[in-house]
Amino acid sequence: MKRILIIEDEVTIAELQRDYLEINGFSVDIQQQGDIGLQQAKKEKYDLIILDLMLPRMDGFEICKEIRKEQDIPILMISAKKEDVDKIRGLGLGADDYITKPFSPGELVARVKAHLARYERLSGNNKGEKEEIKVRGLTIDKSSRRVYMNEKEVTLTTKEFDLLTFLASNPNRVYTKEELFDKVWGMDSIGDIATVTVHIRKLREKIELVPSNPQYIHTIWGVGYRFEI
Ligand code: CA
Repeated sequence: MKRILIIEDEVTIAELQRDYLEINGFSVDIQQQGDIGLQQAKKEKYDLIILDLMLPRMDGFEICKEIRKEQDIPILMISAKKEDVDKIRGLGLGADDYITKPFSPGELVARVKAHLARYERLSGNNKGEKEEIKVRGLTIDKSSRRVYMNEKEVTLTTKEFDLLTFLASNPNRVYTKEELFDKVWGMDSIGDIATVTVHIRKLREKIELVPSNPQYIHTIWGVGYRFEI
């Protein structure tokens, strides 16, 4: 059973979310204090976190940042103000999605399911999928989500890893930015296709010997990108 942590100080909202999620087969814990919520998120093994922005003692921005230092599970931010959405985007906290209050519980459940499914797909939990990809000096270990360049570990963000893994798992195929955004970030996610360009550039800086003359991720002008093996 998938485990979800709700960090939300408004009890009625938290309980409504919990009830709907439980009906849908999830196991749910609630924490009302920001700092205690963070502690619990770090201590327990959750599959997804629903995080309110305005919380006592520690806000959702700070909590998201702290969780991201250690875990790459999906985080759904809940905000009461439309203005916060820009802030969530701008800070690049690594939140996977956001929902503004008020929202329907059905919408929440749908988003939760979509993010869990995508996370599983991208982290290679599917049966029969190869756990390790080796291309010349590059090694991608899907199970531990680590990347090595000539035996030396390369630190990637969650989305950089997801993007690289997706491309390397489907080599020699050209993908448009739209396709990549859809596959890696998902339709409802924060950001737009410019995000793809930014992530490709950062990936190249990290894995390519000469980023301007890449040997792994090639630009196909006017079409998109291709990972070459
Ligand atoms: Ca709140």
